Amino acid sequence: MREKISTPLKTKEIIEKYGFYFKKNFGQNFLVDQNVLKNIVLASGITKDDFVMEIGPGIGSLTQFLGDSAKTVCAIEIDKNLLPILEDTLSGYDNIHVINSDVLKLDLNEIIKTYGNGRKAKLAANLPYYITTPIIMELLEKHADIESMTVMVQKEVADRMQAKPGTKDYGALSVAVQFYCNAHTDFIVPPSCFMPKPNVDSAVITLTLKENTVSVKNVALMFKIVKCAFGQRRKTLLNGLYNLGNFGLSKDELTQSLEEAGFDSRIRGEALSVEQFALLADIMEQKIKNK
Ligand code: SAM
Repeated sequence: MREKISTPLKTKEIIEKYGFYFKKNFGQNFLVDQNVLKNIVLASGITKDDFVMEIGPGIGSLTQFLGDSAKTVCAIEIDKNLLPILEDTLSGYDNIHVINSDVLKLDLNEIIKTYGNGRKAKLAANLPYYITTPIIMELLEKHADIESMTVMVQKEVADRMQAKPGTKDYGALSVAVQFYCNAHTDFIVPPSCFMPKPNVDSAVITLTLKENTVSVKNVALMFKIVKCAFGQRRKTLLNGLYNLGNFGLSKDELTQSLEEAGFDSRIRGEALSVEQFALLADIMEQKIKNK
């Protein structure tokens, strides 16, 4: 086991040695607290049989702990200036592979196939905050072969993922997360655990992919409806569907769909639960098919 780098002093030493500068536009806030790192690994339930994917290893603070706990780790880092540092801090770990790429440009299922040895991946990461939502949405919508994600995100984003219908935090991210996953916040992390310190509190949240989710005939249609529902939050769901949806249904047919689902035609999208979005999607799917 290698000496751990995740203290403020060692992190500072390493970045000075390599003349590294933090890049705000890559969301670079590195963890410098060993307890937080150990607790991320604990929350993710990683065992020696597991294949783990990390997005954004930074200088390798979390990666070292993942390498100690998992069978294989694949860490995807966009910043090529971090590669020589990772080579140094991860030397001695022959179970860790670093890929230099933008995670949003990769076919993650290919990577899981290549390195996972037939297993699904567990994701563990301190995510770059500027693209947390696109990363999570991409993983969920593209059905990446992932069984769970234990990720550090802004606390506000963790709250949005778990928000209930009718609250201000409830949105397309809440519906997607709750449709595909069981979610719970593991713990809250203050700015003092990072270098440099972010302006907000963070939270580690675990999303466990559901084996059986809410039944709906056309998932893509459901998420198109969800997009319309939150695209014009201040308008009624009917107007959102009519203005943004392009479903090939008239306003009357959309009104009928809402009424058949048991809603007042003036209802707002944010009032609908995941199950109710699924019900509406099934009714609209039938109407579209009957045309
Ligand atoms: N895991 C490290 C830690 O906890 O100390 C660093 C976490 S830091 C919040 C986010 C990391 O993601 C940075 O290393 C950053 O360069 C990397 N990153 C940012 N955008 C990325 C992208 N599109 N694809 C892959 N990595 C990215």
